[in-house]
Amino acid sequence: MRFSGWRVIREGLSGNRGWSPHWRDAAPRDEYDIVIIGGGGHGLSTAYYLARDHGLSNVAVLEKGYLGGGNVGRNTTIVRANYFLPGNSEFYSYSLKLWEGLEQELNYNVMHSQRGLINLFHSDGQRDAFARRGNAMINQGDDAILLDREGVRRHAPFLDFDNVRFPVHGGLYHPRGGTARHDAVAWGYARGADRRGVDLIQNCEVTGIDIGNGRVRSVQTTRGPIRAKKVAIVVAGRSGQVAAMAGMRLPVESHVLQAFVSEGLKPVIAQVIAFGMGHFYISQSDKGGLVFGGDIDMYASYAARGNLPAVEHVMEAGMTLMPMIGKARVLRSWGGIVDMTPDGSPIIDRTDTQGLYLNCGWNYGGFKAVPASGRCFAHLLATDRHHDAAAGFRLDRFRTGRGIIDEEGTGAQHNLH
Ligand SMILES: Cc1cc2nc3c(=O)[nH]c(=O)nc-3n(C[C@H](O)[C@H](O)[C@H](O)COP(=O)(O)OP(=O)(O)OC[C@H]3O[C@@H](n4cnc5c(N)ncnc54)[C@H](O)[C@@H]3O)c2cc1C
Repeated sequence: MRFSGWRVIREGLSGNRGWSPHWRDAAPRDEYDIVIIGGGGHGLSTAYYLARDHGLSNVAVLEKGYLGGGNVGRNTTIVRANYFLPGNSEFYSYSLKLWEGLEQELNYNVMHSQRGLINLFHSDGQRDAFARRGNAMINQGDDAILLDREGVRRHAPFLDFDNVRFPVHGGLYHPRGGTARHDAVAWGYARGADRRGVDLIQNCEVTGIDIGNGRVRSVQTTRGPIRAKKVAIVVAGRSGQVAAMAGMRLPVESHVLQAFVSEGLKPVIAQVIAFGMGHFYISQSDKGGLVFGGDIDMYASYAARGNLPAVEHVMEAGMTLMPMIGKARVLRSWGGIVDMTPDGSPIIDRTDTQGLYLNCGWNYGGFKAVPASGRCFAHLLATDRHHDAAAGFRLDRFRTGRGIIDEEGTGAQHNLH
């Protein structure tokens, strides 16, 4: 079933009886060529590109809950390519290009909206840092415009430009940045993978990974054992737990990250805006809610709910940046478990166990990475060679210290980036 405007009209006129389920409810088979653990954005896009690019469809995605119920459906939906360091910048640039063709590619409305992103700066030193970042983005082939104070005012007149502590001096504008509808991305990839023959198996938790003679043999699940030639761990905030089933201890800490949405308001914020003093960012959804968030809760946890000190911190930053937000009522808040690495950059790599692969460490920024991560990881799984765009995301950089991609410049301390 293909989606089109014509189809919507036809179904609307005939009682919407012609729609079919987006994917089959597959039952697990005894054996697959590749088993992907985790039905989030990265697991589903990996399955899609395995089938599309490499013709590999004897593949299962095992999801312990429902597809899209993890972070892929809990994030604040920002998509951007404004990274600074080699290793990251080419990867996120590649991902944004994939985003730009994604709806046509998947024949699915993921509501990708390139409304622009402005990172504010509040001091001369910060302006220099953003000028450097903007130049790196342009060198990478992406778009960046350094705005002065009046330039920012034209886009966002409601900001508190003369705040005594944090006056707004300007911003780095990334016009191709924006947002997308998070769970639609999971559904679009799921539908595409299913159509190419991949089995998507929900309510199927992996409880063990069997290894013999240094190679992976099978996984144990709540729906029985499944043999596999290759197993890919793609479980975001649960990476440490699942890798431990294979005897691995990862350089990853799981932390709670919260997000908030206000009641629906008339259009007021056109872009995505990020405060430069403290971690606060905001956009407005198509339904009118202000969607905003801040920093992680700062201690390791597997609880997908947040705590009040982080709420207070986010609200304070919001009030400092744009006092008018105090009039809006918060409708909902929620938490997701993010997989933090010491250098704030991800891991896409083989492991020391033959046939066992790892995709994790997306910190608080993995939604925008979904298309490129899936494509690069599928390339690695299918060919055993790293894709050029993700060549820096090696696991051994944390052991050797070589190739660390310390985007935030905060060293090896998890809770500082
Ligand atoms: C509040 C919040 C805001 C964010 N905002 C942004 C943003 O604006 N932009 C951005 O780029 N990124 C953002 N992120 C980060 C982004 O959401 C994540 O990096 C990304 O979604 C993680 O990859 P995933 O989609 O594959 O994860 P998930 O959707 O979490 O997928 C992992 C899946 O693995 C499953 N699983 C776990 N253990 C098992 C098991 N044993 N067996 C089977 N299945 C298992 C889980 O149930 C889950 O469905 C945000 C995250 C949060 C929490």
